[in-house]
Amino acid sequence: MRGIQLTKLPWTDVPAIEDITDSLPKKGNWDAKAKRWVVQGVWDGKTYNKGPRSPEDIHTIVIHHSGPPNGTIKSHAEYHARKWGCGIAYHMVIDKGRIYQTNDLLSMTYHSGNNNTYTVGICVNRDLSNSEMTDLERKLLYSAILTVKSLLPITNIKGHRELPASATACPCTSEDRIRKDIESLEEQIEYLNTPSAERVLSYAFAERINDLGTKFNDIKWGVPAKAKVMQLAVVMEQLGYTGEVTPEGIVKRVRDIYNNSAMAKYEDEGFKKLLIGANKAKEVGLL
Ligand SMILES: [Zn+2]
Repeated sequence: MRGIQLTKLPWTDVPAIEDITDSLPKKGNWDAKAKRWVVQGVWDGKTYNKGPRSPEDIHTIVIHHSGPPNGTIKSHAEYHARKWGCGIAYHMVIDKGRIYQTNDLLSMTYHSGNNNTYTVGICVNRDLSNSEMTDLERKLLYSAILTVKSLLPITNIKGHRELPASATACPCTSEDRIRKDIESLEEQIEYLNTPSAERVLSYAFAERINDLGTKFNDIKWGVPAKAKVMQLAVVMEQLGYTGEVTPEGIVKRVRDIYNNSAMAKYEDEGFKKLLIGANKAKEVGLL
């Protein structure tokens, strides 16, 4: 799982995930290294595994901070490479306003002691022991978590310190808050992805008006199309239209609202305006 893409989110201002796995310093490949297959902290004393993990084995996201001293992703990669002979141990890193993928999500890496077979490690690249995550870091972290959750059968989100037999304060931030926020974001996403009858109606309205607008220059249908559109004149003020009401102006206004609300996918303001138009359109028999 390389080059992963952001899942659908309740916001649109998060930059694309950049996969920098191949450009980071490394001494070897995680998948080529034979690693103790420690399951839930217990090793049978003989099993070593190479190669990528099965997606179904990966059910926990582990949150890390990079801790002191603050370093770059590259410096962490160099340090991890020296320590374990592969590359960076995190799968994803939040750093300076971006989300980076730093390993194949299926690679088993050494980010959490004896808990690496079933986990994906996401690191906020800053020392969170002396200050809380910024709003931006939190937003990027949540975007990364939701993205990993959309790709793997994740059932748990844990801080590094919450794992069995871990002796660390990492990630020095409230895991409960993260879990609670993710839960409510998932509810929001589900709501937004389920089009209500009203939402369907408002978009049908936009399509209908757009369609009538394309007929304005038609010799036969132009005049009746304009007359139909003009029936909406009375609600145009509520749709934020100012100035002299013309058929072309109405169509343009509806197209603008539609385009803006489609761009900011989950923007409710445009949808509400379209719904006003849709109700009028129904009343006059346009829908
Ligand atoms: Zn950690």
